[in-house]
Amino acid sequence: MSPFVSRINQIDAAQLDTEIYKVLRDKTKEITKYCTPGKIDKWQAEVDAVLKFLIWKFSLQRGSSTFGQRLLNLHYVNITQRKAILYLILSVVPQYLKDKLAHENLSERGAFARALKSLIDWMTNVINLLELVNLLLFLHRGVKPRVIELLLGLSSQSITTHRPRIIGYSYMARELLWHGLMELFTIGIPMINFHYLRHVVMRLWRRPKPSTGLLPVMNAATKCAYCFEDPILPSHAGCEHLFCYYCLQAHFTAMNVFQCPSCNAELHAGDMKRYTIASASWSDDEESDDSFEKVDDG
Ligand SMILES: [Zn+2]
Ligand SMILES: [Zn+2]
Repeated sequence: MSPFVSRINQIDAAQLDTEIYKVLRDKTKEITKYCTPGKIDKWQAEVDAVLKFLIWKFSLQRGSSTFGQRLLNLHYVNITQRKAILYLILSVVPQYLKDKLAHENLSERGAFARALKSLIDWMTNVINLLELVNLLLFLHRGVKPRVIELLLGLSSQSITTHRPRIIGYSYMARELLWHGLMELFTIGIPMINFHYLRHVVMRLWRRPKPSTGLLPVMNAATKCAYCFEDPILPSHAGCEHLFCYYCLQAHFTAMNVFQCPSCNAELHAGDMKRYTIASASWSDDEESDDSFEKVDDG
């Protein structure tokens, strides 16, 4: 009579085995990332088989447990060398054939390959069905979570005597804390007025000048004083510099005062006007926005 092994431990062991394999697989992909594309992909099935063989060599060939089981203090009670080799064959060969045939151009390979392919497809379906039935059986009886274990008659046993499964919640707490922080930042950061902070810092060493009252005059060489591109919908707000409408409006949306980056004059949201060629001067009122005229260069 073997000591009781909980279902969750057996499922976790199987899951850990899958994860270990996936980690190694990802690593090999990372290593071959810079090789010529397609060169390694062609051999992916072989690489996977070799990985599985290596995992088997260092776990089941030497001892009586897979890596996943070892992590949870489990092992197979009745594993023999013969069963271990069968275990390797069953876990490698079907997947290898399936991967290999999936990437081959079968129309060139003749009827045999096609028959093999349909046989493999059929086998895959049978294995999937078996896995489902086995899972139901496992949930009922609590032994042999994997089909391979059912076929080879392997059963798990705890290495240590009865010890309660210890679950650490510290990682979960850390994860939750981290998520909470991320949420706080994603909500909080957009609320910080960076325009204002920048303005405050700039004011420390820039002396604001009163606006000169000079009129901005636009010519072919005029650039936006903020983004140094050709002004789009040229606008101004009290100094002799022109801005894109959006460059200026973005600042005034954030705060009412904006310091001209070229002349340090303090500009106020209320003074913002569109530049029109007709007046080339201060527009009379805010309503003139609608009657904006395109300005010809020169
Ligand atoms: Zn601009
Ligand atoms: Zn200016």
